[in-house]
Amino acid sequence: MRIVVLFKEVPDSFGDRELDLQTGLAVRAADEAVPDEISERALEVALTHAQAHPGVEVVVLGMGPAGAEATLRKGLALGADEAVHVVDDALAGADLTLTAETLAAALRHIGFDLVVAGDASSDGSGGVVPAMLAELLDVPQLTALSSVEISDGQVAGLRSADGTEVALSASLPSVISITEAFPEGRLATFKGIAAAKKKTVTKLSAADLGVDVADDSVPRSIMVSIAAQPARTAGVTISDQGDAGTLLAEYLMANGLV
Ligand SMILES: Cc1cc2nc3c(=O)[nH]c(=O)nc-3n(C[C@H](O)[C@H](O)[C@H](O)COP(=O)(O)OP(=O)(O)OC[C@H]3O[C@@H](n4cnc5c(N)ncnc54)[C@H](O)[C@@H]3O)c2cc1C
Repeated sequence: MRIVVLFKEVPDSFGDRELDLQTGLAVRAADEAVPDEISERALEVALTHAQAHPGVEVVVLGMGPAGAEATLRKGLALGADEAVHVVDDALAGADLTLTAETLAAALRHIGFDLVVAGDASSDGSGGVVPAMLAELLDVPQLTALSSVEISDGQVAGLRSADGTEVALSASLPSVISITEAFPEGRLATFKGIAAAKKKTVTKLSAADLGVDVADDSVPRSIMVSIAAQPARTAGVTISDQGDAGTLLAEYLMANGLV
């Protein structure tokens, strides 16, 4: 069985994240880039299954700028067997549809029985790439799972919703997305880090995957404008001298709040 984990690189959420006010893209130099925590949890699901089932291959797949190779190497250090990096400057600023189209082409190219993704990334937070992939690949999808059981030819799991737990299953090949209910990823060992250095990260461009980035017959979402949020100003303090009610009413009326 071949499990492909969608392993996205994101700016470290513990640091200062920043968007470029010209391009709308994340400023990659602003802080350290790291594997998204939800991607690490997804990898943990795959590695735990692979450890208990010899012969199961785990592949980490990421689409991102050149520097994202380091994140995929972390995936190898944690125990993935292979890493695939879709990298192409033409894909910078890819919207959700182009990202899904490209990742779907990569998944067809490398082959998979099961795709494990996060339910939403911590930077883009689109939350739709896994569903788009299932549609494009014409396979079933189980979303937002809080537990997963993988067996020959099938994946099953629970989705928690409105105080209930919904049991779901699908035949393989399939795409699943998982939530933060799963445990955090493991730490890399020295042995894993050393082994990762000897492994190759396969590079694929849009052209390698037959993806036409410039195809304007496909609807794409376009950033219309981006601006910094106005700086917060101090609020108005009304101290009661017997006229606080009047002052409050005047303030609300002056600001169109009543
Ligand atoms: C050169 C280049 C520059 C890029 N710059 C940016 C950027 O500045 N900001 C940005 O947010 N994105 C960037 N991307 C990546 C891409 O545009 C986004 O990943 C995409 O729009 C998905 O949005 P999302 O994270 O909101 O998806 P969601 O639907 O929230 O993602 C859900 C899950 O899908 C999987 N997934 C999503 N995207 C990827 C990915 N790229 N690789 C692997 N797994 C993935 C993960 O498992 C994730 O948990 C860049 C890509 C390239 C090639």
